[in-house]
Amino acid sequence: MRKKLIAGNWKMNLTRETSASLAGEVRRFALERKADREVLLAPPFPYLEAVRAAIEGSLVLLGAQDVSPHAPGAYTGEVSAEMLLDLGCARAIVGHSERRESGETDAIVRGKAKRAADLGLGIILCVGEREEERLRGEEKRVVERQLREALSGFSGRDAEEKLVVAYEPVWAIGTGRTATARDAEEMHRFARGVLAELFGEGAAHSIRILYGGSVKPSNAAELLAKDEIDGALVGGASLDAASFAEIISS
Ligand code: PEP
Repeated sequence: MRKKLIAGNWKMNLTRETSASLAGEVRRFALERKADREVLLAPPFPYLEAVRAAIEGSLVLLGAQDVSPHAPGAYTGEVSAEMLLDLGCARAIVGHSERRESGETDAIVRGKAKRAADLGLGIILCVGEREEERLRGEEKRVVERQLREALSGFSGRDAEEKLVVAYEPVWAIGTGRTATARDAEEMHRFARGVLAELFGEGAAHSIRILYGGSVKPSNAAELLAKDEIDGALVGGASLDAASFAEIISS
């Protein structure tokens, strides 16, 4: 049974103080939910420590929004997997479409995913088609390419232990538009088929595939009710404690 994961991606928002207080609120309602869902918060790098302190001792997991493909050294502005592990991060998001849009290639995503997994840091690998690609009927081809390219260095064991996939159609991110639960489910089933070709049926069955793209209280229940949808990667709605709480409880 795959445990549903609700991950909040705060992007470049909040302050040290508001990060800590939002994390404290999330901690409170995650406690009420007990252990039937995993909850992860991915604040901006400078607030990882404040959020870590706010969720310490709870079941809420700490995540990062990105990770360097490089070993520690002369890489100005980069943050290594070692540093994230040192801060207590369980996972890093890699290949988010907002980063792909600013030039992150499949090869870079592969480097980040592989190095994180090698060091023992879990990842949430984001894949998803742009609107024009969907209009051309290329959504499956795009998602298959992104999965195969990013995961080409992964063993089945890496995949089972370290990988979470997030299917995030780019046209649904931050736009208020969501894929229908049926369309999302179809894409998740397709992505799981690709994972099965790469790592075998058993591993593919155990890997969680989250949906992301304007998830909010009004659509979360329908999406999360689908067997193939193993949780949500939530942007905008994760910045509001009440909305995020409702999504966690959906
Ligand atoms: C995201 O950034 O991964 C995301 C899904 O954002 P939003 O929920 O705001 O669409």
